[in-house]
Amino acid sequence: MGNINIFPSYKCNQDCLFCAGGGQKGSTGVRDLTTREILEKLDDAVDSNSMVGFSGGEPTLNSNLPYIIQYASDKGATIILTTNGANLSDFNLALELADAGVDIFSITLSGHNAKLHDYLTQTKGSFDRVFAGFKNLSCLRDDYGYHFDIQLKILVTKPIVRHMPQIIELISREFPKPYVIEITGIAIVSNAKRNINEIAIKLTDAAPYVRKTIDAGKQYGQTVKVMDIPPCILKDPDYFKYYKAWDNPYQYDDVDEQYASVNLECKEPELVKGDLCRECIMYNKCTGVTQSYAKIFGFDELKPIIN
Ligand code: SF4
Repeated sequence: MGNINIFPSYKCNQDCLFCAGGGQKGSTGVRDLTTREILEKLDDAVDSNSMVGFSGGEPTLNSNLPYIIQYASDKGATIILTTNGANLSDFNLALELADAGVDIFSITLSGHNAKLHDYLTQTKGSFDRVFAGFKNLSCLRDDYGYHFDIQLKILVTKPIVRHMPQIIELISREFPKPYVIEITGIAIVSNAKRNINEIAIKLTDAAPYVRKTIDAGKQYGQTVKVMDIPPCILKDPDYFKYYKAWDNPYQYDDVDEQYASVNLECKEPELVKGDLCRECIMYNKCTGVTQSYAKIFGFDELKPIIN
């Protein structure tokens, strides 16, 4: 028994420019799993020590999602729901999912205003909807006493890199109780690869803004994590403690063969390091960068930390 990632729906209600799952094109020709097939996967893989990630596509497009999550939660597993958050603007759905046993809601916010977020999601109104989703979750957690974490993901892309600290300011102003803020490097596959000139940024160029975003998170008492941006990129050892190795089910998960048969790139992220990395004192803690990132930007910016 172990950790598993389940895709309750391969379809999506957005078409994000950075999507690693292919966006709306990614689901073309892929049949969604039936509820029975999903439950069988859970029976095969899950026990009380498991982490079960639900993602997609957009998992909330599966109308049986609360039932499926409850099924996994009843086995004692830790449940992480990765969603674009738009459907959580429906308070009843947010409540149903919280009741079903979601432990971590993980939601990407792609801008500090509607213009930027809606541009990156290619979906008008998505900022207002995700923001309503955050409000609903904050209300359930802070006013109704539900015990789940709200994880706000910031994917480091070219259009938002300068505005990342403003995302933290916005969230901290609106929702005084802390979130988990995850600042993450992207895999440059599928939509992100198609939109590479608009989306991809060299991590070295992003680093000053990543540090500023961490500082903003610290200032507002948020819990901050940095993923897929190696410590040598952050340079200053004061920031190394925010760097986290993968601690979610993707790390262990088998590839979803059905999805992979159509969209091979969904095998990402596989993480890689450069030859010089062996000399680095962070070698065993660091997961490196995504393979697709290394293919485009190489390893030259990864400079071993010697002491
Ligand atoms: S192991 Fe490599 S990528 Fe990681 S911090 Fe060290 S030099 Fe950078």
